Amino acid sequence: MAQYDYDLVTIGAGSGGVRASRLAGSYGARVAVVESSRIGGTCVMRGCVPKKLLVYGAHFAHDLEDAAGYGWTVGDVGFDWPSLITAKNRELDRLEGIYRSILKNSKVTLLEGRGSLVDAHTVEVNGKRVTAERILIGVGGWPSMPAIPGIEHAITSNEALDLMSLPKRVVIVGGGFIAVEFAGIFNALGAEVSLIIRKDRILRGFDDDIRDTLGEELKKSGIKILDGTVITQIDKRNDGSYLLKRTPGEDLEADLVMYATGRAPNTAKLGLEAAGVKTNPNGSIPVDEWNRTNVENIFAIGDVTDRIQLTPVALNEGLNFAETFYNNNPRKMDYENVASAVFSMPPVGTVGLTEEQARKRGPVKIFRSRFRPMKYTLSGRDEKTMMKIIVDAETDRVLGCHMVGVDGPEIVQGLAVALKCGATKAQFDATVGIHPTAAEEFVTMREPVAE
Ligand code: NDP
Repeated sequence: MAQYDYDLVTIGAGSGGVRASRLAGSYGARVAVVESSRIGGTCVMRGCVPKKLLVYGAHFAHDLEDAAGYGWTVGDVGFDWPSLITAKNRELDRLEGIYRSILKNSKVTLLEGRGSLVDAHTVEVNGKRVTAERILIGVGGWPSMPAIPGIEHAITSNEALDLMSLPKRVVIVGGGFIAVEFAGIFNALGAEVSLIIRKDRILRGFDDDIRDTLGEELKKSGIKILDGTVITQIDKRNDGSYLLKRTPGEDLEADLVMYATGRAPNTAKLGLEAAGVKTNPNGSIPVDEWNRTNVENIFAIGDVTDRIQLTPVALNEGLNFAETFYNNNPRKMDYENVASAVFSMPPVGTVGLTEEQARKRGPVKIFRSRFRPMKYTLSGRDEKTMMKIIVDAETDRVLGCHMVGVDGPEIVQGLAVALKCGATKAQFDATVGIHPTAAEEFVTMREPVAE
């Protein structure tokens, strides 16, 4: 008789938890996964996937405008927000079905309900207790908002994905990934969008040329960026709209107020103290390179560990956990050169060090190019692309590639392979471009920017 009900109980069926559980199951482990919401987690149900579908939907607004420059007569066009939301929801249902069958096919038991730890080997779900040799925590995070008067009137990205109608005036607070992505969606679809940022620029942590270029492009596209601004109170008015008090400046009116001010780990009421699992001051769970918490048999992966909050990172952590403990194949995650994208309009693709980070390590050469994408020569759209390469001046190694512009995420994914291989600028230069593309600019920039 086995000592525990399961070899592994995973709490959280998001990207990381599902990957780890199904792999462990496929290697013969007896696995259960606990989930209180929809299978697929933030990325599939409330984040990357539905957001990208809305970005695709919003992009048609630009494509239809651009078509005229290519000889098309575009008649009366209309857009129906509920149709887009319904189609998006249909796709999420399909994906959730796939996730469920993946778990079933890997012989993973799904325990639906909120899971909490009772002790280091016991998880309680809906009043029922199950025991496991190992426990994996992949509960992710949840939007966090500052506690100002009237904050209950604000929505987060969770609700923004399911609005019944498209509001006319939208105020978005925050200048991170989520804020700029939703600003682009609402703006392209016809809303008046104001982005409220408390400092001077959007996208803290990104290369300054990305921050400046995207900031300019967002403004050109009609998004108002109110910098150095803090919202101090939100009042709901009788007509259903909102009045926002701010410092400095006059009150703002809005039909929708959305906060995208970061995400907090979902560790409250998880029973971590009962099991002896330590947390960081922000609630995230510290783990070692094997994803192990301070408790020997309890592990954590994904956003709840607050390492890099990206789905592919959680997927890799889940894969490594399953390979290490259920396939006798120890694997660790390499957090260097993880590429990422912001699906703003235009989008951002980035991999490696920013100029600021690189300069702290030693002398660098910077290569930069700004141009109007060929597609917009005939359409006349006033949107620029910016590409930048950061090179170690001593070793010639490429340390970072950054892009704002059409297809940025698609282009930078390929460059991420080169950086992972330790490519030098000479090797970039020896690579023959594909003409005519924007991507070829990354292998044809010859003159460094003057210091
Ligand atoms: P981010 O951490 O990216 O950005 C938070 C923003 O909110 C910052 O601009 C920050 O400003 C601002 N902010 C924080 N607190 C306050 C406050 N009290 N008042 C006003 N502004 C405040 O968080 P997001 O919510 O955008 O996204 C969460 C995470 O999800 C990201 O870090 C990312 O890892 C992931 N994500 C990834 C995506 C992708 O890969 N495309 C898409 C969406 C999310 P300041 O700069 O001044 O601190």
